Amino acid sequence: MLYFSGPVARLVDEFAKLPGIGPKTAQRLAFHILNSPPELAQSLARALVEVRQSIRRCSRCCNLTDEDPCAICRDPARNTRLLCVVEEPRDVIAMEKARGYRGLYHVLHGAISPMEGIGPDDLTIKELLSRLQNNEVEEVILAANSDVEGETTALYLARLLKPLGIKVTRIAHGIPVGSDLEYADAMTLNKALEGRGEFG
Ligand SMILES: [Zn+2]
Repeated sequence: MLYFSGPVARLVDEFAKLPGIGPKTAQRLAFHILNSPPELAQSLARALVEVRQSIRRCSRCCNLTDEDPCAICRDPARNTRLLCVVEEPRDVIAMEKARGYRGLYHVLHGAISPMEGIGPDDLTIKELLSRLQNNEVEEVILAANSDVEGETTALYLARLLKPLGIKVTRIAHGIPVGSDLEYADAMTLNKALEGRGEFG
């Protein structure tokens, strides 16, 4: 059992709050910082504070951005009739890297999960509905993950959007069942997008 003085213990505690960081890794990170030149701690601290100050949600697509509207929403070359709904900002990155999609996005910031107490109101579904008011969007592509939460979310959205007269499609299951969009390679992702079908 190791005992740390106040500031070290606090740093270890803060690291341990991060996803995927257990107590051992938290200690390792803390000691790495203590053994590194002070500049490392300073630039890390600055980056942490700056990212929270400058990054916010885009008022249109809810993706994370340092400018509002974000670069994708502002891009005049984008097809504004196509809207791809994803769970997380990292899914937008995966889709953009795959380069097979030129429409707009909507980021839900999660998926419906009764187990974790996450309901529709915890996602950006209200924002999605208000975006669809102007009748510009002709097709909504549901690209939620293919796990239970993603399927539940896709089904919920399909039922919500169908009565609005919007074509609702779901990306094909080239994406392995139960896996996250972000881990799909570009070719699989583009094929899944091409092979999308009407849904709900
Ligand atoms: Zn945006």
